[in-house]
Amino acid sequence: MGLILTEISKTFKDFKVQVDLEVNDGDLTTLLGPSGCGKTTTLQIISGIIKPDSGSIILNGNDITLTDPWKRDIGIVFQDYALFPHLKVAENISYGLKRKGTGKKEITEAVRNYLKLVHLEGYGERTIDSLSGGEKQRVALARALAPKPGILLLDEPLSALDASLRKNLRREIRRIQQQLKLTTVYVTHDQEEALTISDSLVIMNQGGVEQHGTPPDIFNRPKTRFAADFLGHSNLLGGKITAVEESSGITVRINDKTEIYTPYFPLFKEGDPVWIFFRSGRTEICSYEKAGGNVLPGRLLLKEYYGTHTLFEVDINGTIIKAESRHPLSPEKKELTPGQEVFVSVSGEYCYLMERLSRI
Ligand code: ATP
Repeated sequence: MGLILTEISKTFKDFKVQVDLEVNDGDLTTLLGPSGCGKTTTLQIISGIIKPDSGSIILNGNDITLTDPWKRDIGIVFQDYALFPHLKVAENISYGLKRKGTGKKEITEAVRNYLKLVHLEGYGERTIDSLSGGEKQRVALARALAPKPGILLLDEPLSALDASLRKNLRREIRRIQQQLKLTTVYVTHDQEEALTISDSLVIMNQGGVEQHGTPPDIFNRPKTRFAADFLGHSNLLGGKITAVEESSGITVRINDKTEIYTPYFPLFKEGDPVWIFFRSGRTEICSYEKAGGNVLPGRLLLKEYYGTHTLFEVDINGTIIKAESRHPLSPEKKELTPGQEVFVSVSGEYCYLMERLSRI
């Protein structure tokens, strides 16, 4: 049945969180946004640590808005593990079960099963300070899962770990969550983590939900300028529609000398101010004029190496366009140098128009 937050609001001295959110049963939904946008506050409202000023929280069909945190049927994993340092690994995992009054035999069996699930068989008698950061977080996960909660909340669970460990553990978390079909809310400010782990993604900004959708939805069809800018390198150019032809498409003027053509879409008419959005990964760069698509002449401003790809920034008559080329680069692209004349091209089918509202 999942989780439903309706008109939740919480005001601190100079910050307000206002959230409506639905998490489908068995889905992993990620709250993604910059520092201070209200992700942790939202998670703490779900867990009961923070009481909202108004709104309701329904978890698996039950209204838990006024329920005490420890009666909410929730498992939580924090960034800093928050394990009990004086208890051994097995005692940490069995803590929630003992509080529930579970029998000794079931506890022993559950501890064995959850240690196996997080790949820590044989670690039950270890002390917490003998564990690595990754192992501690696995214990924290097992501890949160052992009482079989109705929902799992994870607050930046990987941010204290190094890059390669983060990748392994996030795959483990996803494997376990899918195996248990456990409704989960995951908080992160890491875009790659959010895109790879989630069934659905909530982009948060200044205490509110900017957009909620599947990762491909948000990546390819951002609804606001903030969502477009936040996920990966993209181009979001202000423009004005100068022609709309059902047969040939829409023409958008992005500056005095440059027009971009996109396919016809009935929502738009001549004269409309719009944002035109396309991913830099869909944009080609070349030192000579190629046929096909929107081919725009300009001057190369910047060339940045990113390991898996190179990012180019090109000045097209005063408008900056980003193009991303995956490695290995062709010999011709390797030679491109800032300052030289180049052409960027993007096919109209990758260009997505948004109404240019005053708020974005
Ligand atoms: P981060 O990624 O840095 O953890 P976040 O998106 O999780 O950020 P929150 O921790 O939810 O953000 O904080 C959102 C805002 O609410 C911040 O400006 C914070 O200072 C404020 N805030 C959070 N808790 C309280 C509190 N108890 N009293 C006053 N202000 C608070």
